[in-house]
Amino acid sequence: MRLTDRQREDVAAFAAFTDERIIPEANHWDAEQHLSDEIVLALGKARWLVPTLPVEAGGTALDVPTYGLFSAEMGRGCGSVRNLVAVQGMVAHAILKWGSRAQSERWVPRIAAGEAVGAFALTEPENGSDARNGRTTAERIAGGYRLTGRKKWMSFGQRAAVFLVFARLDDEPAVFLVERETPNFTVRPIGGLLGLRASELAELELNGCEIPAENLIAHGRLVFDLVATTSLDYGRYSTAWGAVGLATACLDASLDYARTRTQFEVPLAEHQLIRALLTDMVAAVEAARLLCGQAGELRAAGHQDAVRQTLIAKYFASRAAYQVAGDAVQVHGANGVSSDYPVQRHLRDAKIQEIIEGTSEIQRLQIAEATLQRTRV
Ligand SMILES: Cc1cc2nc3c(=O)[nH]c(=O)nc-3n(C[C@H](O)[C@H](O)[C@H](O)COP(=O)(O)OP(=O)(O)OC[C@H]3O[C@@H](n4cnc5c(N)ncnc54)[C@H](O)[C@@H]3O)c2cc1C
Repeated sequence: MRLTDRQREDVAAFAAFTDERIIPEANHWDAEQHLSDEIVLALGKARWLVPTLPVEAGGTALDVPTYGLFSAEMGRGCGSVRNLVAVQGMVAHAILKWGSRAQSERWVPRIAAGEAVGAFALTEPENGSDARNGRTTAERIAGGYRLTGRKKWMSFGQRAAVFLVFARLDDEPAVFLVERETPNFTVRPIGGLLGLRASELAELELNGCEIPAENLIAHGRLVFDLVATTSLDYGRYSTAWGAVGLATACLDASLDYARTRTQFEVPLAEHQLIRALLTDMVAAVEAARLLCGQAGELRAAGHQDAVRQTLIAKYFASRAAYQVAGDAVQVHGANGVSSDYPVQRHLRDAKIQEIIEGTSEIQRLQIAEATLQRTRV
């Protein structure tokens, strides 16, 4: 991917932020299972919580390829920060595109500034990959809707002020805005995760909670074809690039370690089996970067193959990141599993990339299906 001068400048700014504000804190956030308020507000102040928004809505109108490079830089520092910006983008863009003008004006600038965090509530305890068959229901009442059901695994649900909740209305899918303070709406923290530990996950209980009519964002067959698919596609692009950033961090750490750690009187880098690991890591990182770059270019061009290419990029990059992070731990030996080094965190975070925004198995099915459709004569 050949960068323009402008992109080079942008990436230098993202990288400086990651080096100064994210990397020094990331292991601490992981241990505390929380991001700091300061980092959320600092991202908002930089207009980087949803940098793809237009300037007047609180973003920096970042183009698609540069947003990819941004996600990679966030992922190089901390998977949970990268997850935060992805989810804020998914929620803010959905409200801007499908919400009423009043909803957009009320929520989008506040989400972009970090004053109100948004959460995306699709998954349920009994329905993950099979999200279309969710059991949460909405019924019409005078002046609005009553929602009943449970949601699970909401990133930043612990912190969120507003939730985009998927439910069934008149036996068709629908999306609603639910504000945190709504009566009969309960948010419970989920702790003790393997990875993305600072993503402040929560489960939600909607126990007949009543919301006003204007909080309906979308209803009907198109909810999944438009809202869910568009949001998940956006999140997938961010996840794919975040995995590239994570793998790059692991590769860089391994190169440094292999150059400086001596065993058998020579640096680790002189041992051929360590070089074999480094080679596999380099090849995986570069291949993933190329696939993400290709997806970005097609997305920017509005190409009809962009969604399929994004699926391929996310599938490949998330698996590559897990492999590279595992190899990085191996190169570091015992230090690799110590919390004094970041590679153990990256390995745990990498596993999650294969589960969120569609699992690797579901993506295998989707990529094959989309490719068969594309090549059908
Ligand atoms: C850290 C984290 C953050 C998350 N954040 C959010 C969020 O913000 N919002 C949200 O809505 N959700 C979120 N999720 C949930 C996530 O989207 C789901 O975990 C994911 O969709 C998979 O669903 P599941 O966990 O129920 O697994 P299941 O769907 O039960 O799948 C279990 C296993 O079976 C496989 N499988 C399922 N169906 C098939 C099939 N047809 N063929 C072959 N294999 C299959 C899966 O690939 C997986 O390996 C988050 C999850 C995590 C771990």
